[in-house]
Amino acid sequence: MLRTAAPPTAALFALASLFLAPAPAPLVAQQHEGPVLFVRYQHQGRTSYGTLQGDRIQEIDGDLFGDHRTTDRWVALADVKLLPPTPAKKVIAVGLNYQSHLGTRTAAEYPGLFAKYPTSLIGSGADILQPPDSKNLHYEGEMVLVIGKTCSRVPVAEAMSCVFGITAGNDVSERDWQSADLQWFRAKASDTFGPVGPAIAWGVNPDDVLVETRVNGEVRQHERTADLIFDSAEIVSYVSQYITLEAGDLIYTGTPQATKALQPGDVVEVEVEHVGVLRNTVRRR
Ligand code: MG
Repeated sequence: MLRTAAPPTAALFALASLFLAPAPAPLVAQQHEGPVLFVRYQHQGRTSYGTLQGDRIQEIDGDLFGDHRTTDRWVALADVKLLPPTPAKKVIAVGLNYQSHLGTRTAAEYPGLFAKYPTSLIGSGADILQPPDSKNLHYEGEMVLVIGKTCSRVPVAEAMSCVFGITAGNDVSERDWQSADLQWFRAKASDTFGPVGPAIAWGVNPDDVLVETRVNGEVRQHERTADLIFDSAEIVSYVSQYITLEAGDLIYTGTPQATKALQPGDVVEVEVEHVGVLRNTVRRR
């Protein structure tokens, strides 16, 4: 964590230039202490962004990644349905990015990328639906980067200016299909295989947060993003050499340690430090 109290404006902008897109957040951030949490939610048929403050949400008007302003409208967290924190056009994922997950295998020379579809995304609280012919469905707790602006072919030194913040993700994976299929569309991008949320944390160093996965309360994965083989800037720069990143796009950064098969009824929690807990229950479709 980079700051624990509301910083003076100069320090805030210095911080933003180091880690974050400076565009929208400072105005909002000046009103808060510590990292700012942004949520996207549905309430009485409307979809909105807001800042999460304890168990209440203060609504934002406008585009989170562009012009916006806070409003005096508040809703209780308990009264809303949390949505994936962005309506991402692209969901990109990095595989084999922790040595603890690789085991004895040698790390690749560049990030191994694959795609998840935006239609696979679900928010915290929604169910992971296991398809009828799936027999080996695994969790993968991950820190997820949220892109804040259009970026193409950015060098590593400038890559973090593309990142708005971070969130938590579960890169749900069907291991048998990963082995059997020509590509990983079904294994990684079936409907509901992309839990993400509950919030975007702004004002956090993505390269030193704890990622913890629990299944029915039992800790299964526990490692800091400082152990990523390719860090956030390297990932964003690499992806942007080939694919134009746009505001709202999401990048899953990889899962640590081992994974195991899930069963219907299991409750999977992915907690990323400062972000909160992403909680989803597995059900048979
Ligand atoms: Mg993964």
